Amino acid sequence: MRRNRRVKILATLGPASSSPEMVERLFLAGVDVFRINMSHSTHEGAKTLYNTVRACAARHRHPIGILADLQGPKFRIGEFAAGRVTLAPKSIFTLDCDETLGTAERVFLPHQQIFDGVAAGHNLVLDDGKLRLRVLEASNVRIVTEVVAGGILASRKGISMPDTLLPISPLTEKDKADLSHALKLGVDWVALSFVQRAEDVHEVRRLIGTRAAILSKIEKPSAVTDLDNVVAASDGIMVARGDLGVEMPVEKVPGLQKRITRTARAAGKPVVIATQMLESMISSPMPTRAEVSDVATAVFDGADAIMLSAESAVGQYPVEAIQTMDHIATEVEHDPIYEAILYATKTEPQPTGADAIAQAASAIADTVRLGAIVCYTATGSTVLRVTRERPGIPVIGLTPVEATARRLSLVWGVQSILTGDPENLSHMVRKACRIAFEEGLVKPRDGLIITAGVPLGSPGATNMIRIAFVDDSGAPIAEEV
Ligand code: PEP
Repeated sequence: MRRNRRVKILATLGPASSSPEMVERLFLAGVDVFRINMSHSTHEGAKTLYNTVRACAARHRHPIGILADLQGPKFRIGEFAAGRVTLAPKSIFTLDCDETLGTAERVFLPHQQIFDGVAAGHNLVLDDGKLRLRVLEASNVRIVTEVVAGGILASRKGISMPDTLLPISPLTEKDKADLSHALKLGVDWVALSFVQRAEDVHEVRRLIGTRAAILSKIEKPSAVTDLDNVVAASDGIMVARGDLGVEMPVEKVPGLQKRITRTARAAGKPVVIATQMLESMISSPMPTRAEVSDVATAVFDGADAIMLSAESAVGQYPVEAIQTMDHIATEVEHDPIYEAILYATKTEPQPTGADAIAQAASAIADTVRLGAIVCYTATGSTVLRVTRERPGIPVIGLTPVEATARRLSLVWGVQSILTGDPENLSHMVRKACRIAFEEGLVKPRDGLIITAGVPLGSPGATNMIRIAFVDDSGAPIAEEV
């Protein structure tokens, strides 16, 4: 199953898409990675979804990725005696440790960590950004605020602290249980919500080890401040525009999206653009023109993947939403300006052997007009360095490691194929030619580039590049470089 585009599609599973028939239809429509949202899924439900996706992958003999998205620390205020109150602009409103029901003057805040972190001058945001408070005084039992943006506030609404670095672990007790379940199932990627700093990612890495790759969701201002280190600590990045637009003014989100995409691309880490991409398709078979433009922008920016949330999880048109994304991505990637934009946003390689080989492979492909770059890879790291160059031809990752093949399903331009390590150099060239030929990427007398680490099978040591041309049967006819 070869896709006709290089950007990948990530779709969230939910009530609208959990049956085996629907998973099959979504895969055929273009999904490369399925997301299980642990905020809404029970352990039993996650297991069923996991098995359904794995069965679909086995039927098609195609590596499909599975991402488990952990809820992370979400905070809520307590309850009001009247169920809801109206906060007037410029009025004083207090959050405290008194468990009695709240009024328009005060409410219980059942999270000691917030009292421990908040300071005068910080902003507090309530109900997905609808209300905003500025802190006048803070102690470890009381936060006195002035209402900046008022309105109706109901019991148990969410509260976020965009200016506060909270002294908390990146995983709640629920996250720890969900993570342990997801790892037992064998998911390929784990998404961390509300990452505050690189150390959060290191802490979770100590728990996960190499059992899954870590996708850090950028949705807190503190993660934006520590962006380079968060990207360096993570295996991939998600621009989680929903909460990012709550924690920061919405008008800052597009610029941040570009900055985060560039930073992740420069580091060679896959980057996913998420949230409200085709929001209107939750209830309409047609997207708005603005949504089409939003999806296209992410593709033009060279993102690795574009994501659907409610559109595929609970919407009325999940298959149509995937098809729409697929059509937009394919159209953009065939637009004459696409390659020029990708080229203009390339960044310098790092001074390593792997980057030198990746850059050379991309440059050779441009000069000689070859059909594909074939990378032998154990961990996927060489493939990431090659796709970081955003080469103009398909990249095939050949790996004997199933987990690597599945993780690469999130990565721009890569088609990963599970296959044993070749026995020697000549077998390596024959195998690469045969696979590229069978996949329809090279025709008789076309060439391809092969990268590998010699001795073969040694991870992390890519040190070889080779050009081969195929004959009428897909066997190598000549070798250069
Ligand atoms: C987001 O906030 O944009 C996001 C992707 O996270 P969630 O869907 O978990 O709210």
